[in-house]
Parts: sequence; C-alpha cells; structure tokens
Amino acid sequence: MVATLQESKNNTDEPGCETQGGSTRAVHSGAKRTKAFNSLNTPIVQTATYTFRDTQDLIDYMERKTWGDGEEREEYGRYGNPTVAAVEHRLAALDGGEDAVLYASGMSAVTSLLLSVLPAGSHVVMTDDCYRRTRQFCQTFLKRLGIETTAAPMGDYEAIEAAIIPGKTRFLISESPTNPYLRIADLEKIAYLGRKFRVRTMIDSTFATPINQRPLEWGIDFVVHSATKYLSGHNDLLAGVIVGKADRMKALRDARGVLGGVVDPQNAYLLERGIKTLGVRVKQQNKTAQEVAQFLEAHPRIERVWYPGLKSHPDHETATRQMKGFGGVVSFEVKGDLHTTGKFIDNLRIPYIAASLGGVESLIEQPALMSYFEKTTEERLALGIKDNLVRFSVGIEDTDDIIEDLDQALATI
Ligand SMILES: *Cc1c(COP(=O)(O)O)cnc(C)c1O
Repeated sequence: MVATLQESKNNTDEPGCETQGGSTRAVHSGAKRTKAFNSLNTPIVQTATYTFRDTQDLIDYMERKTWGDGEEREEYGRYGNPTVAAVEHRLAALDGGEDAVLYASGMSAVTSLLLSVLPAGSHVVMTDDCYRRTRQFCQTFLKRLGIETTAAPMGDYEAIEAAIIPGKTRFLISESPTNPYLRIADLEKIAYLGRKFRVRTMIDSTFATPINQRPLEWGIDFVVHSATKYLSGHNDLLAGVIVGKADRMKALRDARGVLGGVVDPQNAYLLERGIKTLGVRVKQQNKTAQEVAQFLEAHPRIERVWYPGLKSHPDHETATRQMKGFGGVVSFEVKGDLHTTGKFIDNLRIPYIAASLGGVESLIEQPALMSYFEKTTEERLALGIKDNLVRFSVGIEDTDDIIEDLDQALATI
C-alpha cells in the first residue's frame, strides 16, 4: 500500500493545471485521484520504519530493483514518509515548483537550506528586515563556521548589489512581505542580481502564501514558507517548507536525512488538511485586511498604517505588479505611547494577544512587547520598532465585526 501512495506524483504535468486558480490548486494539486485504500484523504502512515519481506527483498531494494517509476520507497522515517511526500507534492504544485521538502518548522527549513548549500568561507547577503531568527542564525551560527553575512537595506538595490562580493557571495536572502512593515522585495531585481553574480536567491514568502505570490515564476531559486502560519492556517502545528528545482530539492532531502528536521506524519496530514482551505482563507483575509487598512488610515487616532494594498505604502507599485493579493497582516501606529497602545489592544474583543499570524483567529501584538521586550524604547527605535506599533493578523471573522471592534477600542483611548 505504501507503494501505491508513493506513486502519487503530483498532477501538475497534466494539461490544464497551470491555468487553474489558487483555490482549485489548494484543494487538488499534487494529489493522485486514487489513493491507498481508495481513501479520499491522504492516509496517515504513522511509522518510524519500514519492513522488508526477506533478505532478497532488502537486497533488491538496495539495488533499487524494487523501485517503480517515480517511487520513493523508504527504509526509515528520517529519509521519507508517504504522508509527508503527499504534502510536499501539493506544496510544490501550489508554488509552481518541481519539488518541495518539508521540515519540522520554518526555522528548520531555513537553517537546513543554508547549512546544506553554503561552503566554508563563503558570504551571504540579506536584506536587513528579514525574520529575526534568520538574521540571528546568519550573524551568529554561520559566522562561527566562517561564513560572513552582510545586511543591506531593504528596497535599496544598489546597496544590495554593492554588498555582493563576486565569487565569494553564494546566497542572497530576502523576504516578501516583511515583518512588521510589509515591505515588498522586487523579485525580478533580486533574481537579476542572482543571475548576474551567480548567487543563489531565496525568498521567505510566508506572509504572501502561494495564493498571493509565486516567487519561482520571477526567477527566484528557493522559496521558503513557515507552514506554521497561513499554509496550516489553524495555529495547531509547526512546519516549514522549501520549494524549487528537482535536483536541488533532492540534495536538500538527502541533507534532511542527516540534519534530521523531519515533520511528523500526523502534522503533515493536518497541514495538508489546512492547505485545502488556503484559497478561501487567504482571499477573505486579503479582503478584510484591505478594508481594515483603509478604515485605520482614515481614523483620527491612528498615526500611520503599513499595508502594501494602500497607495501610501512605499512598495505599493511593486506589490501591485507581482502579487495577486496583499495579504492578511496590517501594521499600524496608534497616536500615543506604549501604554495607550496597550490599552487599545486590551479593549479589543475579537483578536487574541499572541505571537504568530496567518490562522483563522485574528491575532494582535505590540512588537515592542512581544519580540523586543528586553530592549529599551531607544534601542527599539534604533531597530525601527516604535512603541506604538501594532501588528494585526486578521483572521477569517466577518470583516464588519473586525472593523466595528477596532472602532470601539479606538474610542476608548
Ligand atoms: C514564523 C516565521 C518563520 C519561522 O517559522 P517557524 O515555523 O516558527 O519556525 C520564518 N519566517 C517568517 C516570515 C515567519 O513569519
């Protein structure tokens, strides 16, 4: 039965798939029409290891004689799992890639990729507002291995180009949209720099999802998602994924067998279940976030709103060109200090105060208190984080209810 499941190569080669919309892909892409036991859903193959009928079967396996076309028969759970493979095929198809590799978390995906591809003594360029832990990994862990990182200002492509050391720089890392200001990387420019200097490019596309943006189509080499966020969509699991060309993904899968950041089959199943509703969730979140951003921008108690769907956002044009939707996160500055901002948040009835984003429930946080608590106001300002900054991840609640809630809470400050 495992073999039947493992035959489930994605169906993206089939005519018509490339023209399908995001929701159709989210429900169907990468999945075989007939699965093991004729189950509609992907069976959860909950096993740490796989058995061999007899010694000859083992020898045939080692000589790859028993491997059918496209089969990935496994001998041990760290090297592969059919439930995990099914989700990988779906994620590859969604992002328009040849293959995908799933990891235990978004950070496991990022760190495994960089550890797998960077030679000793090489150099990395990253845009300066990348995910905080990605920056930390590059600037401390990689540094210890003799790999230096230069941070270049997001949006300044001359500075990014100037930071590249020809022959030494091997990787260009960016993110789009970024956290918390929703800056948009110009994917065409990033891909161009990659080709020009023979540097591999990686985009963390977590905030966008494959519904809103598909960086591979712009020539990016590796797309990374924290699947913990929109892809799973229910704040109930951690996972991460890398999507790209087949030969590179095979190398990453082999490296994952050594580094060990595998995702559990149960979580892979839950992730696939979440992905099926990705299209409807993200479209609703795009719509609500746009309306929330417009409402807040017109509100007298709001200083400034950061949302790529607003004309006032510095990257609105780039976002309009390369995205199908602007995402479900809105950041804004309340007129007032740390305390006033906290009071506004406390008076909201719908969103929970929590880290993370991308789930069905609205989540809200003050980055100054959540991610930068140990810093002083001045230190935070130096990092570009204001005390009155709020990051709001809209859920799938009704748009009107969310706006009414924001309105009543703003009236209390
Ligand atoms: C959350 C997040 C990560 C890390 O993912 P985990 O699944 O929490 O390990 C990386 N990048 C971005 C943009 C994120 O939001």
